[in-house]
Amino acid sequence: MTDIIKEDNENILNTYKRFNVVIKEGHGSTFTSFDGKKYIDFSSGIGTNSFGACDSEWVNAVVNQAKTVQHTSNLFYTEPQVKLAKLLCEKTGMKKVFFSNSGAESNECAIKAARKYSFDKYGMGRSEIITLENSFHGRTIATLSATGQDVFHQYFFPFVGDFIHTPANDIKALDEKINEKTCAIMIETVQGEGGVNALDSEFIKHIDKVCKEKDLVFIVDEVQTGNGRTGYLYSYMEYNVNPNIVTTAKGLAGGLPFGAILFDSKLENTLSYGQHGTTFGGNPICASAAYSVLTRLDDKLFNHVKECRKYLENKLKGNKYIKSISGKGMMVGIELPDGVKAYDVAVKCMENGLIPLTAKSKIRLLPPLNISIEELDLGLDILLKSIEEVIKWNIY
Ligand SMILES: *Cc1c(COP(=O)(O)O)cnc(C)c1O
Repeated sequence: MTDIIKEDNENILNTYKRFNVVIKEGHGSTFTSFDGKKYIDFSSGIGTNSFGACDSEWVNAVVNQAKTVQHTSNLFYTEPQVKLAKLLCEKTGMKKVFFSNSGAESNECAIKAARKYSFDKYGMGRSEIITLENSFHGRTIATLSATGQDVFHQYFFPFVGDFIHTPANDIKALDEKINEKTCAIMIETVQGEGGVNALDSEFIKHIDKVCKEKDLVFIVDEVQTGNGRTGYLYSYMEYNVNPNIVTTAKGLAGGLPFGAILFDSKLENTLSYGQHGTTFGGNPICASAAYSVLTRLDDKLFNHVKECRKYLENKLKGNKYIKSISGKGMMVGIELPDGVKAYDVAVKCMENGLIPLTAKSKIRLLPPLNISIEELDLGLDILLKSIEEVIKWNIY
């Protein structure tokens, strides 16, 4: 195990703050490390393993497609892509889909489409995209530019122009930023990396309204919130709004690199022949995996996600170690007592057999959507114990 850590450090770019653990395998909501230690998984591989690790239906979908054909290029029609696209359109009412490999790529595609929509209709100069402070939209140059956090706007100058950031939930500030150059507004309904902050429903509805009135492109980044995570197929569906573009990735293919961009009737013909493309996007194995996930994202599962949320809130609310709980469904932010560092709690959780995540100063939880109440309960006990230990041992 120490060899793996040593050789990783010697050979892989040092861009991640890894825990001192080598994961060997996983089943359901449990991961096992090389030294045989078991962990309850409250991370789902950062919201990717929607049904936990190696669930049999997903494994069958992946293996069967791998044995059939692993890739064909997008110069051919393939059945897995078509089945998935049709189901996505049926379930969302959107008109067209483009497949990508990641969240950042999905957002890149959305940005291109929004600007082209505006260019086609209004000509040059109407290219400003408004995003929110504290947002996160990806790591490419354009999606970093879209991301409304100064820490991401360093080193890699020049960034892409015409991205304007406005505070979340401030309707007046948003309205003041909209002008004749504005072409789109892009939001996450729950800001994930930014600290698991759910937007106010009035704010989301206002964006929907103003986009309709001014013919702006309303983009919802559902990379993290999508695919059942908040207890809805896509989180915007809770608000009775109509985004023109929905981007997704993370949980879509249950742990394979895959993304989708959904377009409504306003945008469905904006990108056409030769204007966008990808080698791997829509890969048949990933598409088959996504189809196996999507067919199981039903009301029964959404109710389970909502029940888990209720259980978690009942258990944690009022606890002296929990300052507040944020987010929606199984996208949970936990505010810790003053001075208690989320990273210290995460390390302690790992020692105690629980894999959490952090977001800014919060503990962030993204458990598998099908986690059992028993596993959830066990994991929350470990979390509470770990916070207590960090407080006691570090004497804050
Ligand atoms: C993770 C994330 C992204 C970036 O996705 P990648 O697959 O890492 O490129 C974009 N937007 C949101 C909201 C995310 O949570």
